[in-house]
Amino acid sequence: MQRTLIIFKPDTVQRRLVGQILQRFESKGLRIAALKLLQVDRPLGEKHYAEHQGKPFFEGLIDFITGGPVVVGVLEGNEAITVVRSMLGATNGAAAAPGTVRGDFSISKQNNLIHGSDSPESALREIALWFRPEEVVDYTIDGSQWVFGGA
Ligand code: UDP
Repeated sequence: MQRTLIIFKPDTVQRRLVGQILQRFESKGLRIAALKLLQVDRPLGEKHYAEHQGKPFFEGLIDFITGGPVVVGVLEGNEAITVVRSMLGATNGAAAAPGTVRGDFSISKQNNLIHGSDSPESALREIALWFRPEEVVDYTIDGSQWVFGGA
């Protein structure tokens, strides 16, 4: 089992798409290990997107991610990091394939609805940045073998 961090960015909350998109992840078989709504301040936004510091879109990205509340969560499942990334689609919503979250709901490079960790190292760093250890909950869901069997 692998854990990944997801952020329902402010556009998702404002467009009331949180439930609809979360349902896709649950239907796929991913388990919610943590979930909360919060208002991001600039230092947290800048830490999360530190790798993009200095790029032309950086300040606009920080304005965007701090522009309204986000819902942040940890999803767990077999190959969760790649599964979530492939469900999100390409960064630019205008180019993302139909059937992906961004392909179906976004037409913007910046306002692309959901963040998903891009590697095991990023997932560890990001989960520790957004959650205290006790906020990420270990539990089992009855019948999991029907979802993960043979994985
Ligand atoms: N972004 C942007 N302009 C760009 C590229 C990216 O505003 O030209 C934003 C967009 O919201 C994206 C985030 O910066 O999701 C992080 O970029 P990254 O390349 O890491 O894309 P992701 O991993 O989210 O697909």
